[in-house]
Amino acid sequence: MSADCLFCKIAAKKIPSKIVYEDDDVFAFEDIGPQAPTHILICPRKHVASLDEAGTEDQLARKLNLLEGYRTVLNNGSGAGQSVFHLHLHLLGGRAFRWPPG
Ligand code: AMP
Ligand code: ZN
Repeated sequence: MSADCLFCKIAAKKIPSKIVYEDDDVFAFEDIGPQAPTHILICPRKHVASLDEAGTEDQLARKLNLLEGYRTVLNNGSGAGQSVFHLHLHLLGGRAFRWPPG
């Protein structure tokens, strides 16, 4: 746990939230400012600040020189834009991104 991290406090139930799933490794809760009728944040229980500390995506992003930031997207189901049904994560960079995504 990181002492000054909001989501670590939510995981430890020191700050109230609407948790919809939790196990030993992950917890998921409703976003306080939903950008869709359902907007859930799924987090590792371990404090990992960003993909910069995580693994393959970061290594690739550095290799591809995406120094201004990048976005990862996992489309799930045709309604979310998935067209190839072999699980895959998109890594997008090289331009500014808006929020929420379309
Ligand atoms: P990001 O801007 O990608 O880091 O996403 C952070 C998300 O956390 C935003 O969508 C916020 O609405 C959400 N958020 C911030 N504070 C809380 C909170 N106390 N409970 C639930 N969601 C929160
Ligand atoms: Zn944390």
